[in-house]
Amino acid sequence: MAEVSEKVELFSDEKRGRGVRATTFIEPETVLLVENPYILTLEEDYRRNRCNYCCKEREKLRACGGCNFVYYCDRQCQASNYSDHQYECKYLKSSGPECDIWIRTRTLLMALQKHLKMQKKRSRNVPTHNAQGFPLTPEVLYMKKYAPPSDEIPSPMPDMDRLWEFVKAKDLPITKDLFKKFQGILNANMFSVEDSHARCKIIGEGLYTRVAMFNHNCHPNCVFISNGREISVTSIRPISPGEECTISYLKVMAPTEARQRKLKKWYDFDCDCKRCVQDIEEDRLMYAIKCPQMNCRGSVLPWKPSNILNGRYLACDACHFDINETEVPDNIRQTEMEVEGFLSRKKNYDYQGQLLEECGPVLARLDAVYQPYHWRVYQVVKKAFKVALKLDQAETALLYGIRCQVALRNHLEVCVTLLGTNLWEVGQLQAQLGMNLEAVRTLREALPIMEIAYSGQHAVNVQAQALLATLTSTVKDALATPDNSHKGVYTQGSNVEEE
Ligand SMILES: [Zn+2]
Ligand SMILES: [Zn+2]
Ligand SMILES: [Zn+2]
Ligand SMILES: [Zn+2]
Repeated sequence: MAEVSEKVELFSDEKRGRGVRATTFIEPETVLLVENPYILTLEEDYRRNRCNYCCKEREKLRACGGCNFVYYCDRQCQASNYSDHQYECKYLKSSGPECDIWIRTRTLLMALQKHLKMQKKRSRNVPTHNAQGFPLTPEVLYMKKYAPPSDEIPSPMPDMDRLWEFVKAKDLPITKDLFKKFQGILNANMFSVEDSHARCKIIGEGLYTRVAMFNHNCHPNCVFISNGREISVTSIRPISPGEECTISYLKVMAPTEARQRKLKKWYDFDCDCKRCVQDIEEDRLMYAIKCPQMNCRGSVLPWKPSNILNGRYLACDACHFDINETEVPDNIRQTEMEVEGFLSRKKNYDYQGQLLEECGPVLARLDAVYQPYHWRVYQVVKKAFKVALKLDQAETALLYGIRCQVALRNHLEVCVTLLGTNLWEVGQLQAQLGMNLEAVRTLREALPIMEIAYSGQHAVNVQAQALLATLTSTVKDALATPDNSHKGVYTQGSNVEEE
């Protein structure tokens, strides 16, 4: 397909600013856009074992002869990357291979210089937009006013004063205004670069000018999927002609108040999507606490979810007990503050193992008061899952991965694509641990959901189908030869065909 499907077009109005809308009826699972980055930078952790152009992980890579800092599969990848890497090569060289250089420093350096070069070319009529009006260069993208605080974005946010000193020291033809403008553009428009085969997924950051045209919605009708250099946008629900096509800039598993706070801070706007305006019941469930009455398994929900720290609570949905005049609201306030503190604590690298250990007691504390699908429980469980994956602790990761599903299944309407990703990750862990039968079950549930987001013959789907086929055949073999049934998971004796 063309990079941008004919089924969408750009629009512009006062309320929404610029956005993308459907020109015709769009079925779910339709790929609407596929894009390569304007600039892509690998995270420091992946610089030595991944190609700086195609992002693939390789045993043997060749260093760039110029800087000895970045690596490539071969000459072809290096040549393809020259149009971007030329802007940083000599600076990386003078900084030395072990230099303390942030990912955003590199992205900003390259983006600024590429922009200067483009401006020169502009007199020779280099296009700034494609035929459908989507931007090809970043300077027309949205800028936001505030930079996010350093502990809330995946890669460490560079100290911008230090970066500005760096730019000045290198004597680059960049004014302070241009520097600030691009800083804003990058803060508002960078997308994480992910590798679906990688454990920790996020391997870098990329600037994608066409995807950036999609506006945010907390219950979006499209998703964007990053897979190496390429990013794509796919519809996940039917979209009527003229309806806006939206993606979510945040993880959707959060109550309105938390989503709005992040959107304001990161992107400087107030979301007025249907979910933000109407879904008070969903918000209440995300804050569901356990009824403190002995032997009651009911839930107590906040009366006003937007005011969780000082608000009142509804009566227990089972025994009608009223907690408002008890010590429970104080206890909840205390717990909220503790978990907020825990989640916002700085995460640096050596700390990861300790972080994982700390998740246990925090969860025990939350379990005592919150329902297992409370969004705070999900946040901590999810964090533990990611850290365990990063540390390659498969058994621990599997336990936390499965616990994540409780919340995802309880808030399924908005979390369906998250559930698909979770099942895929859990299925792979089960396969790794030799739990083939469980893996088969998990992947069978995962595939139809994954097909919604990774439409068609996406590499991730192909990989998942292949894994399922392999596992299914091993399980069948084992079932066909009872002598082996004492080995590993086959002792369970269940027949996959009977599901
Ligand atoms: Zn390569
Ligand atoms: Zn180089
Ligand atoms: Zn919203
Ligand atoms: Zn009760």
